Amino acid sequence: MSVALNRAQPRRVNSTLRRPDMFYIYDDGDESDQSSNKTLTAECANQCTQTKGDIRQRLTIQKCLITPRRKLKRGKLKLMDWKKYHRLSVIYAFIDELERDYPAICTVSVIGKSVEGRDIKMLKISNSNADNSGVWLDACIHPREWISVAVITYIADMLVKNFHTLSSAITSKDWHIIPVLNPDGYEYTHTHERMWRKNRARYGGQCVGVDLNRNFSYGWGQINGEEGSSDEPSHIFYRGPAPFSEPETVAVRDTILGSITPFKVFISFHSYFELIIFPWGNRQDPCPDYLHLLEGGTVMARAIHETSGKTYKVGNTKDLTYYACGTSIDWSYSIAKIPYSYMVELRSKQHRFRLPKDQIMETCKEIWNAVKNLMDYVDEH
Ligand SMILES: [Zn+2]
Repeated sequence: MSVALNRAQPRRVNSTLRRPDMFYIYDDGDESDQSSNKTLTAECANQCTQTKGDIRQRLTIQKCLITPRRKLKRGKLKLMDWKKYHRLSVIYAFIDELERDYPAICTVSVIGKSVEGRDIKMLKISNSNADNSGVWLDACIHPREWISVAVITYIADMLVKNFHTLSSAITSKDWHIIPVLNPDGYEYTHTHERMWRKNRARYGGQCVGVDLNRNFSYGWGQINGEEGSSDEPSHIFYRGPAPFSEPETVAVRDTILGSITPFKVFISFHSYFELIIFPWGNRQDPCPDYLHLLEGGTVMARAIHETSGKTYKVGNTKDLTYYACGTSIDWSYSIAKIPYSYMVELRSKQHRFRLPKDQIMETCKEIWNAVKNLMDYVDEH
């Protein structure tokens, strides 16, 4: 199936705040940006003794940089960092800014709309080499798993800002990054119910929600009850009335099947079991690529351990967790034919879904190293 991806029309908080040094802060470099602005402004003032044209130009620059109105508005902006968890608007503004600041390698598109009409945005990072293979990374299919959003945005930030120094195993990929696959649910966990797991679909006249990670077609509804999935709308594992009944899962399906780039890696980030798991979830048999998936998962687990000392277990879904039918990784592996399909359960078993803010950065670093090492592995095999 072929679909045309809509070019994003990013919603700017304020269209006058277009300069990188006047917008969101997302790394330590911003402080230096601010000081360089001051330097530039001072230089402008010193050089304003030349022609009238020069003076006008300098004054324009000064006005652009330091007018109080803009400073006031900037103070109201929420800033991106990895010291706390952020709302959807901050996440989307962050990827929009990556696109604006690094247009040669970044593209933001809207791959679908949620049940409540929110954009499902994707950041694609690519050097546009026709020989590239595809990597899919998504987070927040289950909205209460906030750490997944932090981790995936950190990976995006590292990829974009270090692209020219990264290995060819990384730069030879087209990175498809979906930071918030379930935007309605994510907002709902911030505004109403922190432990909400499903989307915000309405069935039977009320909002019951569908567990999107039970709504994919492969093995859909195969096992009813327990964790497999449920046909009961009020159940936490409600699979929906049909495979791909939900716009969020349709967005994944149509984007991947519509891509001309062959995907090699699919990783869906969850929390909190500290696991790296792979197909199958709907049965106990090892999948045909069991050994490669086990090895690739072990490469990631080793990188995590070397980074932080944390030990993530590796194995197939049913072995390490429970039956899960209609999952995205069973679909990506079997139907989309993506050989390295993983679900990474991030930290933490201790704090469950409420991972303390002071563990965000360490979790991001361990997973960034895991993903980098996986790229080396998949290119060698
Ligand atoms: Zn989950």
